[in-house]
Amino acid sequence: MPSPGSRGSRPRSFAALRDLPLIGRVADWGMGPSSASRRTRRAGARIAGLKVTESICPFCAVGCGQVVYTRDGELVDIEGNPRSPINQGTLCPKGSASRQLVQQPGRLTKVRYRAPRATEWQELDLEVAMDMIAQRVIDAREHGWQDIDHHGHRVDRTLGFAHLGGATLDYEENYLIKKGFTAMGAVQIENQARI
Ligand code: SF4
Repeated sequence: MPSPGSRGSRPRSFAALRDLPLIGRVADWGMGPSSASRRTRRAGARIAGLKVTESICPFCAVGCGQVVYTRDGELVDIEGNPRSPINQGTLCPKGSASRQLVQQPGRLTKVRYRAPRATEWQELDLEVAMDMIAQRVIDAREHGWQDIDHHGHRVDRTLGFAHLGGATLDYEENYLIKKGFTAMGAVQIENQARI
């Protein structure tokens, strides 16, 4: 039988025991920062000298608080904000990975286009891609336009396109999308975060 303070046949040193949070705090009672666990000291060293900015996770309508760490404008880390009453320092896997929105090495930074029936992707200039999208919106709007519905009521709308927003869109973007698509006559405008 292992004796108290040992793991299997290996006795635990007092230094190792001190790294357990409660024992460390009792042993260092009244000694200020030295009462922090090794893990806490490592975390402190990790964020030392970084700029700290409070933010909100952009992924869904829960709106968890985040703490964003940067050095010279470069993102270093993101973690849950313990001051947020919503998530109290925690983040779900999506929120925990939100640093990858900016720094994921496989993130695409150029427009990719695959033409109908083509098997390969090609890169497009952003301006060319925007013109192509605009022309398709105009064509779809006209093709699906209705002056009146099947009861003869005036509707002035298009069923040629709809809009489904993603949860990473923020309030301002959703506001502009709703205004813009309604102005073009769309009636099917929804966001994944409401589902
Ligand atoms: S995606 Fe996760 S971390 Fe982000 S707001 Fe929603 S629940 Fe919170």
